[in-house]
Amino acid sequence: MELFDSHCHIDFEAFDDDRDDVFARMKQVGVSRIVAVAVELEQTNRLINLVESRQGVWFSVGVHPNHETKQEPTVEDICRLANHDKCVAIGETGMDFFRTRVDAAVQEQRLRTHIRAAHLLNKPVIVHMRDADEVCLRILKEENIQTCGGIMHCFSSNWEAASQALDMGMSISFSGNVTFKRNDELREVAAKVPDDAILIETDSPYLAPVPMRGKRNDPSFVQHVAQCVADVRNMPLHDLARLSTNNACRRFQIT
Ligand SMILES: [Zn+2]
Ligand SMILES: [Zn+2]
Repeated sequence: MELFDSHCHIDFEAFDDDRDDVFARMKQVGVSRIVAVAVELEQTNRLINLVESRQGVWFSVGVHPNHETKQEPTVEDICRLANHDKCVAIGETGMDFFRTRVDAAVQEQRLRTHIRAAHLLNKPVIVHMRDADEVCLRILKEENIQTCGGIMHCFSSNWEAASQALDMGMSISFSGNVTFKRNDELREVAAKVPDDAILIETDSPYLAPVPMRGKRNDPSFVQHVAQCVADVRNMPLHDLARLSTNNACRRFQIT
């Protein structure tokens, strides 16, 4: 069985003491591919060092909607930094009104900039949407995200929002929160997403899935997300693994 963690932050300090062990554990449970996702442009060199020294790791370039930065990224900045054969996506970008460290108008402009860069690069956009469905989905539509494609990462909204994203050709990625006891509605969404649009992720080191909840998350725990999503879709774990891995490879244009 091969699993693909479509969104993690393996370059973060939380893994500095035991990154080799984490990679070893991942391999043991069949997690053979991961995307290390950016939250700031200053991190790009660190991500490039990581992907050039490891197998099965790809990366993205972007600035998180709630990341405070001295200088807003331009289309040119993103295109220049994303010029690497293991850069497979732009983001994470999006809209987040849950934590409003960054002004809404700034988040919106940042999201538009990322999508415009993604069009030029022909790479998918990793979208972070939290408590901002209406404005975020409207911007994705206005910027024609269907042309470059994208991923609704750590999806945590309702079926209405999921179906609007699906209509724009987006993939829907589920993380540890799909396993949380209170999230019945999210599991219903995970049961309904079409086979060709479903992805799984950890968003580690955050949001460890049940039964690891409260611990530091790592990409090996994507097996628990996979098991939960397989269960709600009434499919064997192996089938869900194959499906989501194929979807991720296709979405990130990894052959
Ligand atoms: Zn995010
Ligand atoms: Zn993230």
